[in-house]
Amino acid sequence: MADPIGFLSHARHDAAKRPVAERVGDWREVYRDLEPADRDQQVRTQASRCMDCGIPFCHSGSAGCPLGNLIPEWNDLVRTGDWAMASERLHATNNFPEFTGRLCPAPCEAACVLAISPESGGAVAIKRVESTIADVSWERDHVRAATAAVSTGRTVAVVGSGPAGLAAAQQLTRAGHEVTVFERDDRLGGLLRYGIPEFKLEKKILDRRLAQLRAEGTRFVTGCEVGGTGPGALPVEQLRAEYDAVILAVGALRGRDAPDVPGRSLRGVHLAMDHLVPANRQCEGDGPTPIDARGKHVVVIGGGDTGADCYGTAVRQGAASVLQLDQYPSPPVQRDDERSPWPVWPWILRTYPAHEEAGERRFAVAVDEFVGAEDGTVRAVRLREVVVRRDPATGARQVVPVDDEVHELPADLVLLAIGFEGVEHLPLLTDLGLALTPRGTLSCGSDWQTPTPGVFVCGDAHRGASLVVWAIAEGRSAAHAVDAYLTGASDLPAPVRPNALPLAVR
Ligand SMILES: Cc1cc2nc3c(=O)[nH]c(=O)nc-3n(C[C@H](O)[C@H](O)[C@H](O)COP(=O)(O)OP(=O)(O)OC[C@H]3O[C@@H](n4cnc5c(N)ncnc54)[C@H](O)[C@@H]3O)c2cc1C
Ligand code: SF4
Repeated sequence: MADPIGFLSHARHDAAKRPVAERVGDWREVYRDLEPADRDQQVRTQASRCMDCGIPFCHSGSAGCPLGNLIPEWNDLVRTGDWAMASERLHATNNFPEFTGRLCPAPCEAACVLAISPESGGAVAIKRVESTIADVSWERDHVRAATAAVSTGRTVAVVGSGPAGLAAAQQLTRAGHEVTVFERDDRLGGLLRYGIPEFKLEKKILDRRLAQLRAEGTRFVTGCEVGGTGPGALPVEQLRAEYDAVILAVGALRGRDAPDVPGRSLRGVHLAMDHLVPANRQCEGDGPTPIDARGKHVVVIGGGDTGADCYGTAVRQGAASVLQLDQYPSPPVQRDDERSPWPVWPWILRTYPAHEEAGERRFAVAVDEFVGAEDGTVRAVRLREVVVRRDPATGARQVVPVDDEVHELPADLVLLAIGFEGVEHLPLLTDLGLALTPRGTLSCGSDWQTPTPGVFVCGDAHRGASLVVWAIAEGRSAAHAVDAYLTGASDLPAPVRPNALPLAVR
């Protein structure tokens, strides 16, 4: 039985961060390392704030956790100090809680009953409890390779090694299938490896989990573009001949550009991923990045996760200044109950640790022009204040200047973090006879199967650019579907359906 007054006895405390001056000088995670005994005690207290409210919206897939994490259960196990059982219950629904515990924006916390009224002290610090259970699990050897008891003799190819592909691969290997993950990059992990910076997810944490997957029997082939023609590529005919089922977990990595903005072709104007990938590679020891912000005035265009990651990366590279621009007005700091009532995901100002470190954000502005120096390098951006609205006739989104005033600001490096347009136009898709939807994604039936029999899809490739927690949830569900396709039935969990959407006010 949970402590029914825990939330009245204890205030919410998030994990402490390292001082800004220290953390901008390295690439390590921003959170402070505590002595394990202090950390465990603090987190037990935080877990005791969960009152096991009876209808735990936190673990309902629509409003809370897409994985259906058994949050009240493991909160109580942590409260009583049963870390081994908490690890078992957490891993029952989540293959990679050390990733979500660090990276997830925590819709569970937005849906926590304690988030309804600020007087309650705020939501349980669920994400902190989750990441601590995961860390303790590794420290105390609760995470072991779980090898399959029997082999089915069926073969599965997973294309793409991001969180969706990895979750699907782990589930299917444990169900006894022979699973091979093909990754075109030289290292595994998808956006966990080369998109998300080290200061949010240290890659040793990813490598540790990959070692578990290998020990369980999942095979990995890197430097292999399925459907490609370069060295190491795997032709689609061979893929189809050698594997009984194929899962496409190829992500949605086609970056949105701004080709119509005058000056886009100037040197120093880049897509966000052109900045983040080599910065991550430098952390892996691959040598200096060609796009270094040191000493530069950096302008990041776009207000989401990717923009914040460029921002934090530029600060660590030693930028002279960092400015992040957003076309939309600044959201409120607190939930607006009219616009996004509990338990839906609230429209609020999201301040990432990177924003506390340096720099500035400006809202309701758009770049009119990138201004070049004589040598063809960007030297400034011209901004206008704007409103974003819908065309009453067509419903199309319009960005409209509020007046004629133009502000010019210095910029030696401009990073476009304005989203992703969907799956890349891969030869693999043509060879499989698949076309993209108007949203740039791959469609599937209720069994996660694309229109091409035996070919399944999950993660960003199906959903469009989304979140790690959704990628894992879709990977688990697609694994259930593939297992059923290969054997006639499946005991694997299926936390989400292909048409699942977060509860929202639309
Ligand atoms: C900069 C950035 C920061 C983010 N931060 C967060 C965050 O903090 N929290 C969060 O929840 N989400 C975050 N996200 C979103 C999250 O990373 C994605 O939703 C998630 O990684 C999607 O997983 P996936 O497995 O579907 O695809 P991906 O991670 O994109 O992996 C797809 C993989 O497929 C490979 N591939 C593609 N085609 C082929 C082929 N033909 N052959 C072989 N391999 C192929 C690619 O190389 C890639 O490795 C962030 C995204 C970005 C870009
Ligand atoms: S995965 Fe995300 S939504 Fe689910 S419990 Fe963890 S932080 Fe919450």
